[in-house]
Amino acid sequence: MKVLVVGAGIAGPTLAYWLLRAGHEPTLVERAPELRRGGHLVDFWGAGFDVAERMDIVPELRRRGHRFAEARAVGSSGQRIASFTPSAVMGSDDRYVSIRRSDLAEVIYEALDGRAETILGDTVSAVEDDGNRVHATFESGLQREFDLVVGADGLHSRVRRLAFGPQQQFERYLGIVVAAFDVTGYRPRDERVAMMYAGLGFQVVRLSLPDDVTMFLITLRHERDVRADTLAQQQRLLRDRLSRRGWETSEMLEVMSDARTFYFDRVSQVRMPTWSRGRIGLVGDAAACPSLLAGQGSALAMVEAYVLAAELAGSTGDHVQAFGRYGARLAPLLRAKQDAARGLGLAFAPKSRFQLLVRNTGMKLMGLPWVTDRVMGKSFRDAVELPASATFQPSP
Ligand SMILES: Cc1cc2nc3c(=O)[nH]c(=O)nc-3n(C[C@H](O)[C@H](O)[C@H](O)COP(=O)(O)OP(=O)(O)OC[C@H]3O[C@@H](n4cnc5c(N)ncnc54)[C@H](O)[C@@H]3O)c2cc1C
Repeated sequence: MKVLVVGAGIAGPTLAYWLLRAGHEPTLVERAPELRRGGHLVDFWGAGFDVAERMDIVPELRRRGHRFAEARAVGSSGQRIASFTPSAVMGSDDRYVSIRRSDLAEVIYEALDGRAETILGDTVSAVEDDGNRVHATFESGLQREFDLVVGADGLHSRVRRLAFGPQQQFERYLGIVVAAFDVTGYRPRDERVAMMYAGLGFQVVRLSLPDDVTMFLITLRHERDVRADTLAQQQRLLRDRLSRRGWETSEMLEVMSDARTFYFDRVSQVRMPTWSRGRIGLVGDAAACPSLLAGQGSALAMVEAYVLAAELAGSTGDHVQAFGRYGARLAPLLRAKQDAARGLGLAFAPKSRFQLLVRNTGMKLMGLPWVTDRVMGKSFRDAVELPASATFQPSP
């Protein structure tokens, strides 16, 4: 089958990889003129790690990734409130890595080894399913036909909008905005420690990365839909809300204008009754973004891509059955992750003094292995059985 995969982030290239393994012909189209560089860090583990292992990319992920030995919560004067090991939360000492989202995407893309047609700097402007084929029109004017089109174009998916309806219909804004940026030469540094500071309505995380790079990850409560479209508006919002709020907030805002990369978005989930319509499907954040509060979106995006490809491989051309099974297999897991993540908003941007107290107490308890295991383990572990890799043998 010829499959157009829209979006070369995490889910798109993973899907293309497994489609190739099953003997299909994927074409990737990515809106950005080149694969994106820089950007925020993701903690990568769970069932997505198993998919990465099956793609033989774990050594490269480890080479480009980082391992934090400690997550440390501090108070407004920098005093230690709590400390725990990230591996305890993820339930494994060696099956996780923290890596830039763009590096993860690039490593997956490299695994394709040039075997998937890739169109950069373009996107679809219309997709029309006539029941037998999907006619795709690109912004560049290109017109092509495919057996299937899969949107892997993230939270603000265009394929979802074109085929299923406007974003507002499916997006659940969680009342928090996120910003991430990195600078060089920032002091102080705490090597291999994720420093976390929360005040009323926000959390700031500072990560010291190699080459003297420091990354800040800010989550800020903002109940109204945010109107901050330009970089200047976004940075002004952060300055207005975070200036002199304790710990290193003022120093952080001072270096923000020197950021090498700057990311800003709403923290939202995507909830859809179905992830496919006819010959058009969705995968990753486009289908069921769990939000950064879930801490697992990239791993789940890979799981979704793998399972969709496996169902397509096993369904001998019956895409309706394949899409149906893919949704049935994973929708309950994604819904559970989304529900669990909603409850974590208080950790990322506590609304009240009481929530701040609960958050800080929770951080202290995370140092106790049985608590981490029982409380966090429930929401972070993946109850999913991956189809066997043998499913992907192309039919002779
Ligand atoms: C600050 C932050 C921290 C996070 N932390 C973690 C974490 O610790 N662990 C974790 O697992 N996850 C984390 N996530 C979530 C994770 O980044 C996402 O869930 C994951 O990237 C989803 O992968 P995806 O391929 O579905 O979408 P994306 O990675 O968003 O990729 C979508 C791709 O589609 C492209 N695109 C967009 N529109 C179009 C279009 N119209 N046409 C063509 N291409 C298009 C984009 O350029 C991009 O390349 C975090 C997210 C954020 C924002």
